[in-house]
Amino acid sequence: MRVGGAGTLFGTNGVRGIANKDLTAELALNLGRTIATLKEGKIAVACDTRISSSMLKCAVAAGIMSCGSDVVDLGISPTPALQFYVKNTDCVAGVIITASHNPKEYNGIKFIQENGVEFFREMDEESERLYMSKSFKEVDWSKVGKLIQDDCKEVYVDAVAESVDLDKKYRVVADCGNGAGSFTTPEILKSLECESLVINANPDGRFPARDPEPVERNLEILKKLVIEFRADFGVAHDGDADRAVFVDEKGNFVSEDVVLALMARYYVEKNRGGIVVTPVSTSKVVEDVVKEVGGEVIYTAVGSPVVAKVMIEKNSIFGGEGNGGLIFPEHLVARDGGMSVAKMLQLLDETGKKLSELAAEVPRYFTVKGKIPCKDKIKLLEELKKEFPEANHIDGARIEFKDGWILIRPSGTEPIARIYAESRNKKRAEELYEFGVNVVKKILR
Ligand code: MG
Repeated sequence: MRVGGAGTLFGTNGVRGIANKDLTAELALNLGRTIATLKEGKIAVACDTRISSSMLKCAVAAGIMSCGSDVVDLGISPTPALQFYVKNTDCVAGVIITASHNPKEYNGIKFIQENGVEFFREMDEESERLYMSKSFKEVDWSKVGKLIQDDCKEVYVDAVAESVDLDKKYRVVADCGNGAGSFTTPEILKSLECESLVINANPDGRFPARDPEPVERNLEILKKLVIEFRADFGVAHDGDADRAVFVDEKGNFVSEDVVLALMARYYVEKNRGGIVVTPVSTSKVVEDVVKEVGGEVIYTAVGSPVVAKVMIEKNSIFGGEGNGGLIFPEHLVARDGGMSVAKMLQLLDETGKKLSELAAEVPRYFTVKGKIPCKDKIKLLEELKKEFPEANHIDGARIEFKDGWILIRPSGTEPIARIYAESRNKKRAEELYEFGVNVVKKILR
């Protein structure tokens, strides 16, 4: 059974696969047993709106109870709402059933630590070893765990709304994508006294309105509605609402990197300095604006668990990925779509500027992304280290130039190398991309 990346069960975001094919009820049952063997005490479970989510959630819950632990069933909830609940109650762990932005046939199972943070890589590896060994601590009939029903959405909505303080009233269009955010983002906007127009907020695992991935091509209706409704901005979530992407008041999609940069600048200015954590694949725009206001950027390998880990280690004030996953550590060290909406309102309120004006303040970069075949990942990494000793080798090689950068990164799951190139000059970005392709070709020749 191979579901995750790198020939392992767990990938960078827990276990993912096609429901009832890769990700079966049996697998879910044993993953429930795995976490209950690792962590002693009450464990919270929740799921997104997918058709297979209830099946997998019940199987995980049964596995947990069979090992003597009580289960708190939080029903359909955004991933950050479950994480916030685990952090603030006596639960020792959490399990979220979601495939995030993946198509409807997929699902996933991800473990959450007692502090609400995703399992780190080494914890997933430990879970995988236990899962493979099947040495679960199943208990005698009299010690089987209980199933407790609870809700995490109300507390989450209140905490998110209380984290900001707005002077003005805003108009917002929210596209919940028929996902778990349907239960929380409309409520957050209501609590913050926004005039909101909410679309696709009926939970539906067939995702009839749009693909769960909140990328620009899926948001044409949102863009139109923002203009018609004369909204201050539009926001869209992925299936489990840990991500949020934005459309400005003119109906233009704002690149996720630009939102990350604006939010990072806001946090650094507010804290008069501080560390911002983001993966090596993130646009230079974040580093530019953070440095300008006296902050520091630390780059990590790609994947939200490692971003969270480094944020904790470095006592970082803000972090996130260039895909709409923003992390506000004072609330929760995890990507949080609800908080992203609240903090966007706060940003507009404190600056008094429109989102399009804010977006225009940061440098504009051109990015070229692509992939080329790579059969020898180890050789590529070794040679990149030799050839570019000055580069950042935390995950592939990020090579900086005076007028841009490239990242050469072998994929963990496919025999390819991904190449990212970025510059403020479009032609230069293309040149840098070609340079990256030639470097890989030369090494693997
Ligand atoms: Mg997600």
